[in-house]
Amino acid sequence: MTLRTIDSLGPLAGKKVIVRCDLNVPLKDGQITDDGRIRASLPTLGALVAAGARVIVISHLGRPDGTPDPKYSLAPVAQRLGELLGQRVAFAADTIGSSAAEVAGALADGEVALLENLRFDERETSKSDGDRREFAAQLALLGDAFVSDGFGVVHRKQASVYELAELLPSSAGTLIATELAVLEGLTATPTRPYTVVLGGSKVSDKLGVIAHLLPRVDSLLIGGGMLFTFLAALGHKVGGSLLETDQLDIVRGYLDEAKRLGVEIVLPTDIVVASKFGTDAEHVIAPADGIENTPFGASGLGLDIGPDTAGRFAEVIRASKTVFWNGPMGVFELAPFAAGTRTVAEALTEIDGLSVVGGGDSAAAVRVLGFTDEQFGHISTGGGASLEFLEGKRLPGLEILGWQA
Ligand code: ADP
Ligand code: MG
Repeated sequence: MTLRTIDSLGPLAGKKVIVRCDLNVPLKDGQITDDGRIRASLPTLGALVAAGARVIVISHLGRPDGTPDPKYSLAPVAQRLGELLGQRVAFAADTIGSSAAEVAGALADGEVALLENLRFDERETSKSDGDRREFAAQLALLGDAFVSDGFGVVHRKQASVYELAELLPSSAGTLIATELAVLEGLTATPTRPYTVVLGGSKVSDKLGVIAHLLPRVDSLLIGGGMLFTFLAALGHKVGGSLLETDQLDIVRGYLDEAKRLGVEIVLPTDIVVASKFGTDAEHVIAPADGIENTPFGASGLGLDIGPDTAGRFAEVIRASKTVFWNGPMGVFELAPFAAGTRTVAEALTEIDGLSVVGGGDSAAAVRVLGFTDEQFGHISTGGGASLEFLEGKRLPGLEILGWQA
């Protein structure tokens, strides 16, 4: 079965259509630092507006732990969405309360409203099927149909992703369809050489994908927080860097498996080691097997790949025809540790082939570092979702829309 598309919902003029977007943008002091996910939602929202639907947008933002917290309000997102759509976006101060009912009820054909953060209600992400269903049932009262377009959350069985799609006539939006087309291309017939670059900080989440990728790729480049678990698996000391000691055997298994398969796992040869976590930290470049031999000793923190490593990664990337990249190479948010991520991003923009960047922070990183979306083949809005897709896992938020691997 294939994904149901918006056409399957029939004529939408005058209908109240709830749209689940992933508008989980990075904020700093109440300002949106990267609006990529809002832009990515525009094709579907624009199409629904053009069809004369009354559009009710729902999303989460951050992890507010099930209670309202002004720090995680979607109000600034409503403002930005309005600017990008070129029309007013009404904002409701709750999701299933009187404000939502009033704002949704007041919509005319072709108008758009955004409801407050779904995760202000703990039932959105509850482990209890009953709780999620109850929350979804209350959301469903607001609309006649449901369009699921938050690709970043399709790997989650959450009320607004899964149960809501069961309760109303539902389809995928165009963002999900676009994301899937690219990722299906990567799993089915990537043009070779095919290189995957992994980094970031969600180490245990991401190690799993390696088992699935090894038989499929030509080279795997390891940077970011997970590189230290690899170095430790080789017997090197990593100071105070991120380390998952319970994954060491798994990682050793990957290194053996890669040898057997003739896949190259490229590990860093040099590391930027810092005295502490901060922009004002002292830092030096150390060989990957000498992280504790710096003036900071065993308390040194590896916060970026070194320049030799970045150069080697860039060479492998440039020689590839397909590259998938998830996870920054270092703590790019702090200027002294952004160089590795910048060099890798630059190399991706130079390949003669398909470059795909996946992951919330990875996408934010390339934009914050001054690259434009057009310099890459595709920037995915979903990190976890794209990795789980590549792992061949079943994604509940897609299956409920008719999709089957
Ligand atoms: P994505 O959202 O792209 O999937 P993650 O959420 O896994 O990526 O990781 C992003 C974070 O990883 C960034 O905030 C970055 O600062 C952090 N990071 C990268 N390298 C390191 C490192 N060596 N030590 C600590 N954090 C790191
Ligand atoms: Mg992230």
